[in-house]
Parts: sequence; C-alpha cells; structure tokens
Amino acid sequence: MEVRFSSKDQIRAWHSELRGSFDSGITLDVKFRKRELQQLTYLLQDNVEQITEAIRKDLGRSHFESVFAEIMVTTNLAIEAYTNVDAWSKSQSRWAGLVWALHSPTEHKEPKGTVLIIGAWNYPISVQIGPLIGALCAGCTAILKPSEIAFHSAQLLAKLWPQYMDSRMSRVITGGVEETTELLDLRWEHIFYTGNSRVGKIVAEKAARGLCPTTLELGGKSPVFIHESANLSIAAHRLMWAKSINCGQTCIAPDYVLCNKHLQDQLIEELRKAYIKFWPNGARLSKDYGRIINDQQFSRLEHIVENTKGSIIIGGKRDAKTRFLEPTVIKDPPSDDISMSEEIFGPILPIITVDGVDEGCAFVNGRDQPLALYIFAKRKISDFIIHKTKSGGVVQGDLMVHYVVCPLSFGGIGLSGYGAYHGRAGFETFSHTRSSIHAPATGMLGRAVEWLMASRYPPYSDLKLKL
Ligand code: NAD
Repeated sequence: MEVRFSSKDQIRAWHSELRGSFDSGITLDVKFRKRELQQLTYLLQDNVEQITEAIRKDLGRSHFESVFAEIMVTTNLAIEAYTNVDAWSKSQSRWAGLVWALHSPTEHKEPKGTVLIIGAWNYPISVQIGPLIGALCAGCTAILKPSEIAFHSAQLLAKLWPQYMDSRMSRVITGGVEETTELLDLRWEHIFYTGNSRVGKIVAEKAARGLCPTTLELGGKSPVFIHESANLSIAAHRLMWAKSINCGQTCIAPDYVLCNKHLQDQLIEELRKAYIKFWPNGARLSKDYGRIINDQQFSRLEHIVENTKGSIIIGGKRDAKTRFLEPTVIKDPPSDDISMSEEIFGPILPIITVDGVDEGCAFVNGRDQPLALYIFAKRKISDFIIHKTKSGGVVQGDLMVHYVVCPLSFGGIGLSGYGAYHGRAGFETFSHTRSSIHAPATGMLGRAVEWLMASRYPPYSDLKLKL
C-alpha cells in the first residue's frame, strides 16, 4: 500500500477549519452530536470486513478477535454515549442552602473546544475511536491521529471518515512522529494520548507549554494474584485467553503472575491444558492466533525469551520471518529478571512465587502502579488485596473485561497514566463544567437581596461576622 501521510499545510488548514466550526457553535446542538455518534456506528457496522481485513494485515489478528475487541466494544460505547448525551449535557441546579436560594446556582456542561486524539497501534479502532466518542458526545471538534504503525488500519480510517462523518466536527490526520510533532505544536483545548510513557512525557511537556489539559492512557505491568482458594482450571483458561488475545499486545494484558510456590506446578499444568484446548495443533498453525506487529517489537520480545533467567516451561517457539511468537510461560524468573524489567506487551507470562498474600502485595507496591490488577481468590482474600494495593482498574475472578463494560470509566494511575474515558468519563474529559450564579440585581428582588447581603460591605465589624 502506498504511504500517504497528511501534509503540514493540510494539518494547519484542518486545525484552523475545525477551530472555526467550533466557534460557529454548530456542535453545541446535541442533535448534531447524536447524528455524528450514529454515523460512527454506521461506519463501523457497514465496514466490518474491510476493518477486520486491515487489522489482519497489520497484526495478523483473527476476524473474531477484531469484531469482539474493536467493532463491538466501540459500537457499544457509541450507543451508550448516544443514549445518555441528552442527560449528561443537561445543566444541573445545585441546592446551596437558603442563603443562595435566590441566586440559582447551576452547573453547565460545555465542550472544551478543539481537541487532539493520538492513538496507539495495538487496537487500531478502539483506542482511537473510543476517546473520540467522548469528544463527539461533549460537543468538541476533533482531530484523530491514528498510529502509523498499524498502517493499513490508519489508512482505512482516513478513507472511510469523510464518507460517514461531518468534516465540520472531526477529521483523521495520518502520519508518524513528524506529523504528530506538527500537531502538538498547534493550540488545543485537550490532548488525549494513548501509547507508551516515553512519548507520553513528550506529549505532556508540549501540552504544558500551552497549559493544555491532557489525558494519558499508558501501559504498565499488570499483575495477577492466584491464591490457593481459586479454581485453577478456570483461572488458567482466562489467563491463557487474556495473555494470547492480540498476541499479548494489550495494555491491560496480564503481565505476570504472583502465586505461592506450592501452586506453581499445578497452575502450569492447567495453563498447558488450556493451551492444548485453544490451539490443538499448536498456536503457529491456528488461524485464531495473531502475530507481533513489527520486527522491532519481535526482536524486543525474542530478547526476553532468549535472556530470561527463569525456565521456559510452556511455548518459547518463534519465527522471525512471520513474527510468530508462541504463548510462552516462564517459571521462577528472579524478581530482577529481564521479563520483569518493563511491560512485556507480548505473549510471555512470567510466574513469580511469593510466600503469601502480604508478600505479593509488597511486591506490587514496590513497583510502579499498574494499569490493571487481577485476582483469583475467594472474596475475603480479594478484598484484602484490593485494599492493600493500587491500580487503574481491578477485576476479581477474570481479566480485562472491565474494558468492555461500557458505563465503567477506564484509566490509569501513577505511571500508567491519568484521566479516564468510556461512558460518562469520556464525556466529562472533553467537557468543561461552567458554574453560574444569577444574582438578583434589579427591581424589588434586587433591592431585597442587596439589603440581605449588605453586611459584607465595609466598614466591617465583629457583629457583621456573626450575621
Ligand atoms: P505507537 O508507537 O503507535 O505510539 C503512540 C502514538 O504516539 C502514535 O500515534 C505515534 O505516531 C505517536 N508518537 C510516537 N513517537 C512520537 C514522538 N516522538 N513524538 C510525538 N508522537 C509520537 O504506540 P506505542 O507507544 O508502542 O503503544 C504501546 C503502548 O501503549 C504500550 O505501553 C501500551 O500499554 C500502551 N497502551 C495503553 C492503552 C491504554 O488505554 N492505557 C491502550 C493501548 C496501548
């Protein structure tokens, strides 16, 4: 496919046109926003084949996974926003006691302005369009800059966009570092970035120059606690699924397991059974198992497999030519192992053994706060772990499903990012809450309120403070 990136002139012109259409007030009309949200669902539903094919070319991912993790998730988010935007955007009167009853204290939701959304490659639809839904719902005008690394998906979005979406509200810019840098040098009312923390810092620094609010959706090492009270077969099936969907290239993928030494071999056995059930002829031959996005990511992951000090107990097979990396389980890596140094972001699962839940919590708390935390244990133990740790989101008894439950907000904490989206959180991210007071200041009512409030004027006295 021919490489087509937006030119600098186009970037500047589109930015200025979108600022102009925001100033025209066209997006203040909630009906207009709803039409755009509806159009977005048509874009997704009419083009299922084209979208899943583009993702297959980028990530070797199966049709099923792309429909489930991109099209269904994003369509549901758009429907949720469509259904609720009238209620979310309504002004709210606030009761502030008798003293202020005549002043009508009210909070209004207003769109922030023209916003920039920068996406990552691993879910080329849901991490680009997901945030955009919040922006459309709030009434912002927006530029979406998908990742150039998921090249086919980005080009397809740019092609489909003008066929469905009103260019006065949103547009897609294609490009890499150069184009994103150009975009970051323009004025925005919000920047929403999804990707790694190194670039997250660049985005935050650039945004800070214009005091532009940002949302950073970053990654991290999401731990999984497996306790002896868990059903190991269920835990292993869910774990193997979450680690292998999209070939482990998921921001909320389980990064490593924490369990007691005596559970480790039994868990590995259950993981092995799950592997055989999912891919009876091996993952390499399965059309359901994806590939690593590019050579750079493949080499990074291969380096982990080749240099781990733990033992590879399941998987480990790989093929650089097709960027195939088998679901791989590492037994007993030391805590300073290469597999534990940074986010794995691939189908490799280290199992760390700890002596009890307290030691597990201390292990997690000794590292950066993760984007997600997963627990397989009876309720009392789960609640204890939740109480003792921090993470962006938490799931007991399953993995990653909090991302697809529409009304739940999604976001990180600490080095896994800040701000949130999905459901109402997406709407709030791109809205400004403007408080208003309408003080009676004319006529009889104005004079009455003036008399009531007059004690604030000098000359001051202690008596006035008591009134
Ligand atoms: P990426 O390489 O596609 O980069 C993300 C975006 O940043 C792209 O649009 C890219 O063009 C832009 N970019 C890259 N370098 C830049 C630079 N120097 N200046 C300006 N812009 C630049 O994606 P990635 O960072 O490899 O994505 C993987 C990471 O994203 C993982 O850490 C993963 O956990 C995280 N992630 C987080 C979430 C979430 O919701 N929290 C979702 C998906 C991925």
